[in-house]
Amino acid sequence: MEALQAAPPTVRHDSRIVSMLAAAIALAVFLIDALTPLDIAIAVLYVVVVLLVSSTGKRRATIGTAWGCVLLTLIGFMLSHDQTVSGSALARCVVSLLAISTTAVLALRNQTAITQRQRMEAELERQREELRNTIDAIPGMVWSASPEGRLIFVNRRWNDLGVSLGDSGPQGNGDIWRTIVHPADIASMQRDWQAAIATGAPFENVSRMRGGDGVYRWMHIGAEPLRDASGAIRRWYGVNTDIEARKQAEHALRRSEAFLLDAQRLSRTGSIATSLPAGTMWWSDEAYRIFDYPREVTPSIDAIVARAHPDDVATVRGAHEAALDGAREIDVEHRLLLPDGTVKHVHFVAHRAAADGEGEGDETVGALMDVTETKRAQEALARSTAELAHVTRVTMLGELAASIAHEVTQPMAAIVTSGDAGLRWLGRATPDIGEARQAITQMIRDARRASEVIARIRAMARKRDSQPATLDINEIAGETLELVQRELARLRVEVRTEFTMPAPVVRCDRVQLQQVLINLLMNAAHAMSGVDGPRILRIATSAGLDAPGHVLVTVQDTGTGISEESARRLFDAFFTTKAEGMGMGLSICRSIIEAHGGRIWAEAPEEGGARLRFELPGHEGDDDEH
Ligand code: ADP
Repeated sequence: MEALQAAPPTVRHDSRIVSMLAAAIALAVFLIDALTPLDIAIAVLYVVVVLLVSSTGKRRATIGTAWGCVLLTLIGFMLSHDQTVSGSALARCVVSLLAISTTAVLALRNQTAITQRQRMEAELERQREELRNTIDAIPGMVWSASPEGRLIFVNRRWNDLGVSLGDSGPQGNGDIWRTIVHPADIASMQRDWQAAIATGAPFENVSRMRGGDGVYRWMHIGAEPLRDASGAIRRWYGVNTDIEARKQAEHALRRSEAFLLDAQRLSRTGSIATSLPAGTMWWSDEAYRIFDYPREVTPSIDAIVARAHPDDVATVRGAHEAALDGAREIDVEHRLLLPDGTVKHVHFVAHRAAADGEGEGDETVGALMDVTETKRAQEALARSTAELAHVTRVTMLGELAASIAHEVTQPMAAIVTSGDAGLRWLGRATPDIGEARQAITQMIRDARRASEVIARIRAMARKRDSQPATLDINEIAGETLELVQRELARLRVEVRTEFTMPAPVVRCDRVQLQQVLINLLMNAAHAMSGVDGPRILRIATSAGLDAPGHVLVTVQDTGTGISEESARRLFDAFFTTKAEGMGMGLSICRSIIEAHGGRIWAEAPEEGGARLRFELPGHEGDDDEH
């Protein structure tokens, strides 16, 4: 933009002096015209008066003066030619009047022209000022450059950068870009700029520029050429826009995307978004990896189903349909069968979220977790827990050998006795068939009892997977007491049972539940073996505390009790206070109870001794399949 020039100042004389001078001339002309007999058109000199007054620019004064001069001319004419009016005198008077009026008209017209020019110039100046203010107000650094690329104009925003518009363009011209653009960006910026100048294509570049505070900020620099009628570039107009905030947001976005990508890969969690009701999907990179699909594959439920394990296809479809039907939460676990035969376990959780745009329906956004490793670890843990449980069970059976032997030998001895009796009844002169039958019936009953005990012992000794069954907890507690009965008797323990009725039913592995009970009973018996007072073991079943329908089993003793220090570690593996102890009993009890959805804990009753309790979810319904 050119330097804005001020309008030339209007020449304004001191109007008072001019008026006085005009009045003096008018008086002189009048006196000469009226009082001297000169035969010349002296009144023509009134023209000077009119011109002088008109030069003050005062319109009305000019008109008044013109009329005044006309009047004076007429008066002068009448005073000097009162008797005879010669033709030439009249002609002189007319010429003077014509000269005055013509001069007045021309002067007035000239005045009007000057006033209009002044107005136009003022308007132009106002417009320039407004344009300059507008350009200064633009929230960007506006500039213009010559066709060769030399900066010619900069707006006020540039002042912040220490660059201002001097008389001959921006100060420090030439190296301005070099002083404000970051050294790392200047080369590419100038290359782009030179290319734009050479080709006349719009210029665009993103560079860091140093602000007044010395801190570099990201700027977008853009410029367009202005061409003349022939198409030649006359000027470049450019604007630099601060995009630091955008750059920072972009950077933050890129960083969080990278974080997300890393987090997804490390946690083996992919994302799946499904827009509803169309069902179109979007998968993250990790989701592709989990499904083992290349990126070219279009995400779809069919693509997922194609990867689902044949036994789990219904689960996958069911979850998808539930989402389409408007379910707010989806939570499924299923397997994938990949083309190479690999089986993966995945856990998919999703919830419904409103889509970004309006009128686009909803979306379910979900996380697909590859839980294969976790599953394997869980399975391995379950296996080793089961093995450990088995080993401790066998050890326990060893400890209970005497008691078990008694449980078996007792019915055996009874069988022998009944056999002997039976034979005697038959050996009589008149065999007493009735008594013999009774003896045989007795034998069968005892043999059954013995074989039941043996079956139970064998079941405990056998290594097998957990087999959940619907169990009457009172019955299991009774059976278990029988198994350890002799051991309890040996240790002079008095057993008190409090079984709630109707008998609570749980869903549990029979052998494992027995193992827990034997552990608790034997621990209680051992804890009491060293005390002198009464040795009372209370085993009770009742309604649970945690939730309605839960079942609570309590084993309480009057033994040594549990110290505060032991209480914290009671259920830890290898924690024992016994010389021969393994410290695995309670730890296994806990894993068994927790595997069945329950919890186990110890309490210190006020009356002394220890109270071990566990709670299991109660089982409702009588079908044995679930
Ligand atoms: P172990 O019987 O081999 O020591 P457990 O895990 O069954 O292993 O028990 C761990 C420890 O908990 C015992 O050594 C004992 O100190 C303590 N304990 C368990 N039950 C009782 C109880 N009823 N009274 C007192 N202490 C107990």
